[in-house]
Amino acid sequence: MTSTTASTIPDPIRSGLQRGWRVRGGAHGPLPARITCDVAIIGSGAGAGITAELLTHAGLQVVLVEEGPLKSSSDFRQLESEAYPSLYQESAGRKTADKAITILQGRCVGGSTTVNWTSSFRTPPTTLEHWQQHFGLTDYTEAALAPWFAQAEQRLNIGPWLTPANRNNEVLRAGARRLGISAAGIQRNVKGCWNLGSCGMGCPTNAKQSMLVTTIPTALDRGATLLVETRADAFVVGHGQVQALVCTPVAGNGAPVHGAAPTRIVARHFVVAGGAINSPALLMRSGVPDPHRLLGKRTFLHPVVISAATFDERVEAWSGAPQTLYSDHFLHSQPIDGPMGYKLEAPPMHPVIVSTTLTGHGQAQADLLKQFPQTQGLLALLRDGFHADSPGGTVQLRDDGSPVLDYPLNDYVMDGARRAFLSMAEIQFAAGARQVSPVHEMARQYTSWAQAREAIQALPMKPLLTRVVSAHVMGGCAMAGHERQGVVRPDGVHWQLANLSVHDGSLFPTSIGANPQLSVYGVANRLATGLAMSLTGRDVQLVA
Ligand SMILES: Cc1cc2nc3c(=O)[nH]c(=O)nc-3n(C[C@H](O)[C@H](O)[C@H](O)COP(=O)(O)OP(=O)(O)OC[C@H]3O[C@@H](n4cnc5c(N)ncnc54)[C@H](O)[C@@H]3O)c2cc1C
Repeated sequence: MTSTTASTIPDPIRSGLQRGWRVRGGAHGPLPARITCDVAIIGSGAGAGITAELLTHAGLQVVLVEEGPLKSSSDFRQLESEAYPSLYQESAGRKTADKAITILQGRCVGGSTTVNWTSSFRTPPTTLEHWQQHFGLTDYTEAALAPWFAQAEQRLNIGPWLTPANRNNEVLRAGARRLGISAAGIQRNVKGCWNLGSCGMGCPTNAKQSMLVTTIPTALDRGATLLVETRADAFVVGHGQVQALVCTPVAGNGAPVHGAAPTRIVARHFVVAGGAINSPALLMRSGVPDPHRLLGKRTFLHPVVISAATFDERVEAWSGAPQTLYSDHFLHSQPIDGPMGYKLEAPPMHPVIVSTTLTGHGQAQADLLKQFPQTQGLLALLRDGFHADSPGGTVQLRDDGSPVLDYPLNDYVMDGARRAFLSMAEIQFAAGARQVSPVHEMARQYTSWAQAREAIQALPMKPLLTRVVSAHVMGGCAMAGHERQGVVRPDGVHWQLANLSVHDGSLFPTSIGANPQLSVYGVANRLATGLAMSLTGRDVQLVA
């Protein structure tokens, strides 16, 4: 996009700053040594944004603490080389302890919602039933949550995507139809979308209704303070509650700033919304009570395996709305607590992310990338957390206090991955693929479904050989109806510390089994509305 075009698009962040938003940190000026407020929120992503909007609506003085930078549509130039280092945790190279899984998470104002792909699903009823039965979340029923989802959908313009699917997605529909497998359209949170396909690099037209352009501006207009490039290091805990939060400035790329003075935030209540992995890590660094040793445990990823297909014609999988069609067929073909089920979608494919994810190197990879315009991709989101052999991962702290997730890819997960490779290859051949290649170090390009089936059945399904990625991090601060099972109560308040809540994806006791953003919005909506009532006696609501 040329700068001339960009300059014609209104920039809600620059105009907000001109209106006098209270933003500090990085280029916005030094942090004060001490801040007092009603509520301090850690993060500015899905859970934080919804919470900030509702609490400021209740008249509370809110401070948001975000470790990433404040960027806006004027900065989003559809360039991977700029987006990954500036908008993602660990420059989009975050990995599990054994390096077998690459994890994508946002690290900027708006969090992962600034870079996500806009697919919007309510929490599946089967997932909620599992929570009711196994985690004592008796009031997390489909009916009880429906109004909270409906409000979030209205606020964020979530609705059907009426533009024709791009060819990358159309392959999923065509192959599924041929095989008699159901596939349907995905709802998206966009307004006036240009169908560019660069959602993962930040939306250059402000069409994506992320927290960056919706709830955070609303909260700032209502007087909230936003600290950017500021990391929440640790809570000071004493007398059964949080006394203060200590934060330090970080550089735009997340590196520590040597000699930087800390800021101390004193608040009536603290809401942790740093996202899974980072939220439990903050609580671990703070030494919060964890009598049942649950903190950071049961962290889920929807481990994703990918199948690449080559077509005779151009697919141009980088162009157009990223994920617009899906199939849940393989989530429903066995019980939720049986062999691992998986959801199928067609991911956006951009050269840097593809070349670092696809297998091979040297000439073999160069040959693969020559076919990039004809390449189509399917992904399978493996639904983790519902079976005894699927306990997820554990967050650990490195020596410098930064988190790392240990997530063993055991035989149970790998059995699901192999079945997913088979399903995806069959669909791609049914849609007319010339060649299919599961993203696995020992796979080749197979030229028929029969050949692929035999080869995939023989592939060694081992970590590091099987390429696994994730953009859906959940759990680690699970909510539950009893303190022996959860870090927080069903209302999001910490079981042991009454002025501390968690409002983000780390709340979920299992994975969602669907793309999680709307689950975070809906649950945070309910919890933040309850928190506003308990702090002020005022009943507030998200308003479109
Ligand atoms: C590339 C990508 C594509 C995705 N696509 C989809 C999709 O299409 N549909 C969907 O439903 N979901 C999608 N997701 C996932 C979805 O966006 C997340 O599940 C959701 O945003 C999680 O919300 P959260 O509040 O838990 O955390 P986040 O939205 O990740 O926000 C957490 C924020 O807290 C900040 N933070 C963390 N620790 C600290 C600290 N110590 N101090 C200060 N700040 C801190 C982080 O920098 C971050 O900005 C995608 C995610 C990614 C990365």
